[in-house]
Amino acid sequence: MNFNEVKEKILLCQDCKDKFGFTPVPIIHGNQYSKIMQISQAPSNNVHITKRPFNDPSGAKLKYKWYQISDEVFYNEDNFYITALSHCFPGKNTKGGDNPPPLASAKKWLKQELDLVQNKLYIIIGAKAAKFLYPDRDFVELVFSSNSINDKPAIVLPHPSPLNIKWFKDHPNFEEKRLPEVRELISNVLK
Ligand code: SF4
Repeated sequence: MNFNEVKEKILLCQDCKDKFGFTPVPIIHGNQYSKIMQISQAPSNNVHITKRPFNDPSGAKLKYKWYQISDEVFYNEDNFYITALSHCFPGKNTKGGDNPPPLASAKKWLKQELDLVQNKLYIIIGAKAAKFLYPDRDFVELVFSSNSINDKPAIVLPHPSPLNIKWFKDHPNFEEKRLPEVRELISNVLK
């Protein structure tokens, strides 16, 4: 399948309907030549409702505080291809947290996206996405190193969720030292 066929099939996918117990809403955003391919864990409930990726508190932190870019830049499909392990919000568990992303979605769709999107840089968000792409690597070490996928540079970030506050407290060098480097890499690619 070519890129447009894969994208169309993802947007129509309902494979997890029985597992979720509701109608899945696949979320992807971008084109085959987006400069940056961003891979996170799964859309939130807010994204599921609004159908706009990173339209939630995690997204606000990611776009405005970490990347320091506007919505106009972030949602420009020539700039960002936005996808995830699970292309749909996976529902809530009994404790109120989100269910884990179904890895079947990543195995079926993300692997094809990785082959087809002609990006220049990858950004991987969160430990679950990092574990899928780098199963044998330590997460903290990945965040602070230069990595690659398909011979292209790859940045690994912690999840920007407000629930991740302990990680930020335990790793003050992330915001002080690593984020300025990340912003410079992104800025160079978006030029
Ligand atoms: S999470 Fe992935 S596999 Fe499941 S319904 Fe959504 S697009 Fe299909």
